[in-house]
Amino acid sequence: MSFSTSAFSKIVEQYCHNYDVASPKQLTTQQWYHIVSNGALALAYSKPVAPTTETRHVNYLSLEFLVGRLTGNNLMNLGYYDDVKNYLAQYDVELVDVLEEERDPALGNGGLGRLAACFVDSMATLGQNATGYGLHYQYGLFKQSFEDGKQKESADTWSRDSYPWQRFNPSKTKIIGFGGKSTCLSGDKYQWTPAQTIQGKAFDLPIVGYQNDVIQPLRLWHADNDQCFDLSAFNDGHFLNADKQIVNAAALTQVLYPNDNHHAGQQLRLMQQYFHCACSVADILDRHLAQGRALKDFAKYQVIQLNDTHPTLAIPELMRVLLDEYDYSWDDAWAICSQTFAYTNHTVLPEALEQWDQKLFKELLPRHFQIVEKIHTLFAQKVRSEFGENPQVWEKVAILFNHRVRMANLCVVTCFAVNGVAQLHSDLLVSDLFPEYHRLFPTKFCNVTNGITPRRWIRQANPKLANLIDRSVEGDWTRHLDLIAGVEKFADDTNFRQEYAQIKHDNKIVLANEIHKTLGLNVNPNAIFDVQVKRFHEYKRQHLNLLNIIATYQSLKENPNQDYTPRVFVFAGKAAPGYYLAKNIIHAINNVADIINNDKQVNDRLQVAFLPDYRVSLAEKIIPAADVSEQISMAGKEASGTGNMKFALNGALTLGTLDGANVEIAEMVGDENIFIFGHTVESVRELLANGYVAKDYYLNNPVLKNAVDFLAHGHASAGNKDEFKLMLDSLIERDPFLVFADFDSYRQTQDTIGKAYLDQAQWVRSAILNTARLGIFSSDRSIRDYQERIWLKK
Ligand SMILES: *Cc1c(COP(=O)(O)O)cnc(C)c1O
Repeated sequence: MSFSTSAFSKIVEQYCHNYDVASPKQLTTQQWYHIVSNGALALAYSKPVAPTTETRHVNYLSLEFLVGRLTGNNLMNLGYYDDVKNYLAQYDVELVDVLEEERDPALGNGGLGRLAACFVDSMATLGQNATGYGLHYQYGLFKQSFEDGKQKESADTWSRDSYPWQRFNPSKTKIIGFGGKSTCLSGDKYQWTPAQTIQGKAFDLPIVGYQNDVIQPLRLWHADNDQCFDLSAFNDGHFLNADKQIVNAAALTQVLYPNDNHHAGQQLRLMQQYFHCACSVADILDRHLAQGRALKDFAKYQVIQLNDTHPTLAIPELMRVLLDEYDYSWDDAWAICSQTFAYTNHTVLPEALEQWDQKLFKELLPRHFQIVEKIHTLFAQKVRSEFGENPQVWEKVAILFNHRVRMANLCVVTCFAVNGVAQLHSDLLVSDLFPEYHRLFPTKFCNVTNGITPRRWIRQANPKLANLIDRSVEGDWTRHLDLIAGVEKFADDTNFRQEYAQIKHDNKIVLANEIHKTLGLNVNPNAIFDVQVKRFHEYKRQHLNLLNIIATYQSLKENPNQDYTPRVFVFAGKAAPGYYLAKNIIHAINNVADIINNDKQVNDRLQVAFLPDYRVSLAEKIIPAADVSEQISMAGKEASGTGNMKFALNGALTLGTLDGANVEIAEMVGDENIFIFGHTVESVRELLANGYVAKDYYLNNPVLKNAVDFLAHGHASAGNKDEFKLMLDSLIERDPFLVFADFDSYRQTQDTIGKAYLDQAQWVRSAILNTARLGIFSSDRSIRDYQERIWLKK
């Protein structure tokens, strides 16, 4: 359905009336943002709804959806972008300025949440029926600022209550129980009597397919106090205690837990998880039955994809509903569940694997605990028949162990499919994390390499590059990213190269302006923009990057006349508020940046810009301007990465380890168009087996030692030698992520990059080839893989 100027004008008029302004000319940019968003939403919802198909409905359960700003993206996907832009021009209003008014709904931490957002975009675009299920957090991921170089967190109020793209959907409200007791009715029949119930209210965001008239909901559950009278408490004679709650409903969906790749184990988090799962399972059942389908056909028409273990409680919840509410036998309920659920693993880091305290679990969810116990006991029989009495094996595969409930194990035992998110990671799942499970269930395991949506990550983020590609390749590459391979034939075309290079340069100027606006720093746009933006985590090794910057600084001071290709190192990223070591790294980078940026002797060649408050809208500004993409995790630790894909697609050359999807990016772009360094999974294994002593590297490598000592001697902390002790002690005494072991290789590769950049013709050629060969990393391809290998597999 095309844009209707007259319908849009009516909406504008109506708003002018509401805002009490005589003419649209008097509207503020903020008001225009609300009008444009609400107007587009109204037009979108008046489109005809695409009919549901007979194929399985995908229910994508995720505690995080890092959607980013929606207005620009939805206008583009609706096909209204240019119409609205032209409409606004008559009032001298720039659409891009209007779009800047939106604060990102930051309902996720990092890659996992962003993946969920890319996936719902791709499912809508491919016409895969799907509903995303998440939580309607009042405060998204905290806002980051710096005070004396240290991270400071403040609440992120994304104006949840006036966000124009959401619609409260009162017909979907659910009642969810917590606590109480499970009573045996007869034989194996039980009934759960919760101590308290709360309401789950649905807030829907429209997920708009790319110019195909598909709109599907991203349904976010909002906790509220149940208006219902608590009858059970009244009947038990505890009327006076009826308001004594175990859960403060209003608090339940207030905050997103700010941990990335780390399990903290708090009660409120478990409650959030159950609330999310119970609302979603009830909603999926309601929809299934409302479509006139039989409950026994549930798995035929529904699949529930678990984005990591965070929504695992959906498994015992669906079992409970089938057993207790629909009177199913255990075997019939299990048959449905074990064909409905599929699990995506996102990490092999032990500290990130969720394990809940059994006592806590039981108090909060007594009936669910019984169900998990039974799954555990029945599974024990299977293990015994395969492995015999084998305590070593049992210790690894048991669901209940050492007073814990191990969620990944519950998932692998129950789900019909288990996938990793890049080939290397999926291989490590089978060889290292779940080898015993692989022996028990060899056909469950598969790989689906992550992807990114080209709608947001080129067309919207890099409109100039999108325009060049439009003019260069045949066909709708935004929908079929494989077609971007068509630019490969221009890799040696001087005109194309020049245009491509000019676009990169223009994007660098835009970023330079942003850096100046936020940091007051004038960076050199002709320098290499070397960028590392992502969550702060030891395994991602921002401190490896930092040590090289310090070593480079020292070298430039010592030998000012050396050849050095100028660089601007750009950082952005948040650390979890309780992750002190990661915060220490942030502090060190800021302090070193301060010294370097104020040293006239070097700052025409070396600068460091750390932009605060990394989020999707900032990523959209930084990534198109990057020359070098730092993807330098210790091999075996980054499951996939998706930042790596965004950069390469936008023509940055990767400086990376053979980790996660870097391996597949290297295969696609070719060794001569990527900079790979450092230990591999195999050589890491060997190094650790032979006893890694970080201190030996420190003592025997003077360049490394000098760089470390720069911090240790207080040169970046006004003489305070303890300021970075947390980070430095960890490195020197343990170095769990082999920063020192990869330092030399990293530094040499940086040197190679400096020389390679001088040959601009070859560099731009490589960049073009990166863009041309990244088509496979579209999240549309990931979704097709999910369809073929998991959801619609015959
Ligand atoms: C893509 C993205 C990430 C993930 O980046 P990685 O480098 O893969 O860790 C995190 N945060 C935001 C805002 C992103 O857009």
